[in-house]
Amino acid sequence: MLHHSATTVGGARTFDKHHRSRNGWDELGYHFVIGNGTDTPDGYVEVGSRWHKQKHGAHCKTPSNYYNEHGIGICLVGNFNKIRPTARQLRSLEQLLRFLSHTCRIPPSRVTTHKAVTGKTQCPGRRFPMAAVRQALPTRLTATSLP
Ligand SMILES: [Zn+2]
Repeated sequence: MLHHSATTVGGARTFDKHHRSRNGWDELGYHFVIGNGTDTPDGYVEVGSRWHKQKHGAHCKTPSNYYNEHGIGICLVGNFNKIRPTARQLRSLEQLLRFLSHTCRIPPSRVTTHKAVTGKTQCPGRRFPMAAVRQALPTRLTATSLP
């Protein structure tokens, strides 16, 4: 599931701090964070502690909590209501999605956004090019979908 940070700067360490202090969560809510050249280099993929532990996420509240229990949370740093993600962020996202689709056997059709699931947020932002991201993914799981 895709998110934006809705901030101009940031990275896994900053968001981890906010998620603990402001939200009262146990740690960073996302599994992956893709930098925008502020806290981390542009397009740099940070692997969150949840991923290492293969632990549930904390990034998409729904009545059944399905998406937190089963979803993989990916956050791109930036406010994409105002600007578009960088080309490097999008390239890294595409590679990450291909990798996860393949290794976790997730059909690309299951790649979704916070907004598409809850309808209560603009996340990952009005200017996030979801159609292009989806188009860059293979339509089926095949060996050739490896990065
Ligand atoms: Zn979100």
